[in-house]
Amino acid sequence: MYTHAQRRLWHEEAGGELFANDPDAAGLVITTATGPNPRDRRSRCSWNPDIETADQDRQQQFVHGRHAVGLWHTHPESFPAPSGRDRQTAHDYLDAFHGKRKRYLMVTLGNSCNPPNIAVWATGYETRNTWSELVETPASSILATTRLLPVSVRGAFISQIP
Ligand SMILES: [Zn+2]
Repeated sequence: MYTHAQRRLWHEEAGGELFANDPDAAGLVITTATGPNPRDRRSRCSWNPDIETADQDRQQQFVHGRHAVGLWHTHPESFPAPSGRDRQTAHDYLDAFHGKRKRYLMVTLGNSCNPPNIAVWATGYETRNTWSELVETPASSILATTRLLPVSVRGAFISQIP
């Protein structure tokens, strides 16, 4: 994902889907990030995945025991914030699971810092119509706090803001 950060003016948005072996685990671990795919429609401020390829990716990951848990994409801004459309997309993807998935992530990757700033938001059925930001916390504080939804993205521990 980091290699697709939009660090130059001519870089287009890139994205894909996130997969985990146990999609309902309290401590969700992302094991695979797919995309971008050659037939995605991309511009500086938009990324629209090629649905056919995305379906193939999903089936291929499923064969290996991995389940879709979210989307990632880049933003041409230092501190990435999901747009209203990003939020709606996350809701739509979650709805497509017809209740079989508790939550769905929307990860946006900024274009400055190394590693790039990352924003992780989640929509979920247990908190329907809410939209929660997950923030990175030291691993030691995860053990000390009770209201957490730890998520690991490429080894970084991220927890839900109460
Ligand atoms: Zn976006």
